[in-house]
Amino acid sequence: MHPETTVIRAGRTDQPDSLAPPMFFSTNYVSQSLKQSRAKAGDLGEPRFYSRHSNPTVAAFEEAVAELEGAEAARAFSSGMGAISSVVFALCSAGDHIVVQRQLYGASWMFFQWIRRFGLELSYADAGRPGAFAEAVQPGRTKLVFAEIPSNPLMGLADLGQLGDIAGPVVAVDSTAAPPTVQQPLSWGVDLSLHSATKSIAGHNDAMLGVVSGSRDLVDWIRGYSVLHGASASPYDAMSALRGLRTLSVRVARQSQTAQQLAAHLERHPAVARVWFLGLESHPDYELGRRQMKQPGGVLAFELADQPTAQPANQPANHPTDQPANPARDPDCRAALFLERLQLAQLATSMGGPETLVTHPRSTTHAGLLPEELEAVGISSNLLRVSVGLEHPDDLLADFDQALKAVLL
Ligand SMILES: *Cc1c(COP(=O)(O)O)cnc(C)c1O
Repeated sequence: MHPETTVIRAGRTDQPDSLAPPMFFSTNYVSQSLKQSRAKAGDLGEPRFYSRHSNPTVAAFEEAVAELEGAEAARAFSSGMGAISSVVFALCSAGDHIVVQRQLYGASWMFFQWIRRFGLELSYADAGRPGAFAEAVQPGRTKLVFAEIPSNPLMGLADLGQLGDIAGPVVAVDSTAAPPTVQQPLSWGVDLSLHSATKSIAGHNDAMLGVVSGSRDLVDWIRGYSVLHGASASPYDAMSALRGLRTLSVRVARQSQTAQQLAAHLERHPAVARVWFLGLESHPDYELGRRQMKQPGGVLAFELADQPTAQPANQPANHPTDQPANPARDPDCRAALFLERLQLAQLATSMGGPETLVTHPRSTTHAGLLPEELEAVGISSNLLRVSVGLEHPDDLLADFDQALKAVLL
């Protein structure tokens, strides 16, 4: 079946006559005999034992995601970072080597820096350089290759087929910015597909979840560790995400279309220096995106121009003597000015929800990076990331236009 159908049907095996997913609040379940209790305790995927291990509502969500990803199994976590940290600690020990993409979501970057203290050694690979991951692998020592495709915040890609060809280490792809109706990393041969389901999968900014999909053996191994790690998903969030999943394909298709319009509009705007959107030919990974993604997705980034190239046609003539200095001349103020003027789009972190959100990566998602690290991944103080929502495109374009006026000199 098509993914558009799968999102509607998936994850319903444990709800024979209830159309909506039943919600199981209980943290624990009663056994009828010691024999049954022993069997449940020994099966970490058993949904009716203790909720840190699993839970029927969480299991339904896992089943749905596994089906969408084309995976044998999936494990849900209390957040995307819970998923990432569980995967790393389940697979790697002191002395092991990990290959990590340089262009990462800020918290993932910080996490990988942090774990060096446990004796894990890291090498960084630039997503945009073909073969970079495979070259960095040290045979026998590298236990994990960790990529984020598309990457935050510039939507950079790496070739999923090349990643899938890497033999030896487990290859994990954080595919948060391209949900399963857009991109299926496992179909390219990578071992684990990982999502912050807080974003597009749950899709309504009201649930925090992570999820990892892959072969049954690998997911069971991760589940075995994660039961001790403790970042287990809550049934409330799993339920919200199951509801969100049903509309995933229509939401993301619409967000992609609106993002395409907004990106094209911004690219022509004199107050904008550069736009990164996978649906624009100007994006360095445009061709690769067309090969491995069904749609460009709803996330774009743009940089406000240092020296706006033109006056807006309808701006009244200035009288220099009685005008205060325009704060937009100060690059540190330009993003602030723009953000303050936005009325429909809101200044908030996260992505994939119904509301259009704009973030300033330098001061939020990537605030933990050193100046040279920020420069290496192309994050300036003029850079803004947009998660396009479900508003009417005309209203959004009008909002961006009126806010961009503030930064034109
Ligand atoms: C948000 C995000 C995460 C972390 O997910 P949380 O649910 O916030 O813990 C990881 N990777 C990417 C790409 C993200 O956007």
